[in-house]
Amino acid sequence: MLTLLIATGNRGKFLEIRALLADMEIDLLAPADLDLDLHVVEDGQTYAENAAKKANAFARASGLIALADDSGLEVDALNGAPGLHSARYAPQPDATDADRRAYLLQNLSGKPRPWKARFRATIAISVPGGGIHFAEGICDGEIIPDERGSGGFGYDPIFYLPELGRTMAELSMDEKNRLSHRARAVKNARGILERLK
Ligand code: IMP
Repeated sequence: MLTLLIATGNRGKFLEIRALLADMEIDLLAPADLDLDLHVVEDGQTYAENAAKKANAFARASGLIALADDSGLEVDALNGAPGLHSARYAPQPDATDADRRAYLLQNLSGKPRPWKARFRATIAISVPGGGIHFAEGICDGEIIPDERGSGGFGYDPIFYLPELGRTMAELSMDEKNRLSHRARAVKNARGILERLK
């Protein structure tokens, strides 16, 4: 049976990935299961570079196949910002998710709507001594000026899905896991994992 290390300290991401791979007979481990505590600096120029850095570091340290992801929000009216900087997008050093949403809306004010946007996630799967594989997932939507809903995290309350008439923060976790960028990236990675079994 394939043993796969999920290279994230984020329990929510781990549970999401576990649910999406539940039927594949893969033994999933979290870094804490191996007492692994690596800090990888995410200074790459692309999501793929950052995901690869994380996956390679964990694969090297554990000797196991490791899966890592990197994600962000891209807003067309801001030429793709915050993009790779989504997690740190605000002037103040100790900013919260709410501060980042407010800063995004401040930068969009005065620009014509709709503010088309997408979440993007790239997954890297690193095989010790055997190369690296990538899969991507995208979720299209638009940014709205007023927050709606209390689920999810990050930019979810202002990320609106026109075909559902709801924001990402108004979806149940199950609903979000069916259509999110990360869920789509994991689905696209299933074929790679099948071949590594
Ligand atoms: P990372 O992939 O954990 O580095 O996340 C990058 C950043 O993108 C997060 O800190 C959030 O600001 C944003 N982001 C990524 N995925 C989501 C999502 O599903 N909802 C809301 N924000 C997200």
